Amino acid sequence: MKRALITGVTGQDGAYLAQFLLKKGYDVYAIYRRSSTPNFWRLQTLGILDKIKLIPADMADMGALMEAVKIADPDEVYNLAAQSYVAASFDQPLFTADVDGLGVTRLLEIVRNYNKEIKIYQASTSELYGGVKKMPQDEKTAFIPNSPYAAAKLYSYHMMKIYREGYGMFACNGILFNHESPLRGLEFVTRKITNAAARIKLGLQKDLELGNLDPKRDWGFAPDYVRCMWMMLQRDKPEDFVIATGETHSVQEFVDTTFSSLKLNWKDHVKINKKFVRPLDVFHLCGNPAKARKELKWKPQIKFKELVKIMTKADLDRWKKHLKGETFHWDAPNYPDNINIYKRSLDK
Ligand code: NDP
Ligand code: GDP
Repeated sequence: MKRALITGVTGQDGAYLAQFLLKKGYDVYAIYRRSSTPNFWRLQTLGILDKIKLIPADMADMGALMEAVKIADPDEVYNLAAQSYVAASFDQPLFTADVDGLGVTRLLEIVRNYNKEIKIYQASTSELYGGVKKMPQDEKTAFIPNSPYAAAKLYSYHMMKIYREGYGMFACNGILFNHESPLRGLEFVTRKITNAAARIKLGLQKDLELGNLDPKRDWGFAPDYVRCMWMMLQRDKPEDFVIATGETHSVQEFVDTTFSSLKLNWKDHVKINKKFVRPLDVFHLCGNPAKARKELKWKPQIKFKELVKIMTKADLDRWKKHLKGETFHWDAPNYPDNINIYKRSLDK
């Protein structure tokens, strides 16, 4: 039985990847960090919490990470842990650099010392192409990071490459474009939209406040993308891959498609609040997954319209059940709408 160690298992991708690996017959170990409010709701929703071996650790804590690698003694490590929210990286740039950048080097050093044969996957990102004008972007496109998040991920991207080339380690970067699902965090724009539209449809909320509606993203479906992480580690040769659908749509198109599917006019409900506008944004992301298609035989099964449908239906069903008094694992506490968060990015 193969053994895997996942970091970031309480997040969207970690939960789907754990489910995927369990189905493949893996012995799944994962690190989690202690929080004052339990955050196992995704694993509970997928019904896999009791099937995973959890080890307390944090990407900032080298000793605990080392212990986790020793306990798991894995064949494969999937490093998905990150401060993953671009907007928050402007508020907490040092923390983001520590976890998303140095955290990866900690893991690489531990694996290099413990067992160089362990294969490592790193959750790299299309945000590396932040300021790139050329579309679509592929493995050869030069990176222009546009956020502290992207800068930290660029550092870790290079560290993976350096350990691969310098020490012969099986270290791969998956350059994944945005991928979403009903388990996506509520602060990301897709889930924020589908959740709010469902509530508006049911009369639970009137308006939805957003920032810039122009940016375009190549949005895919998270379960399609975690499959690809595994595929990258099953090869004989470690390489980096762009994973994307090859389609791009604006935030406004996402809003329009969601609201239209519920027979609502988004213009009656969407308000612009500059609180959600970033100091520097990313405007055009569209990936070219040709290499993954050719060498991994990977193809996304779900594209834009179907993705919107899946997410909107899940949120609508959830709120309908909520109105009937049902409670759910996925009723994770969200930030209430009416708290005053002071953001330094508004000072400009
Ligand atoms: P999530 O935000 O849903 O999950 C992030 C995970 O990282 C959570 O389990 C979180 O734990 C954990 N984590 C955060 N900080 C630490 C820390 N200091 N020590 C240990 N664990 C930590 O992200 P996704 O699942 O969406 O993304 C997975 C990875 O893929 C991330 O690295 C992200 O940056 C990257 N990525 C994601 C894309 C996407 O579109 N989803 C696109 C490209 C890359 P906790 O629950 O305790 O907060
Ligand atoms: P990102 O691509 O990882 O930054 O994913 P997000 O879902 O957080 O943001 C995607 C795009 O939506 C970015 O260009 C944001 O500026 C834009 N956007 C517009 N309004 C909002 C909003 O209210 N919340 C978020 N998260 N993004 C928004």
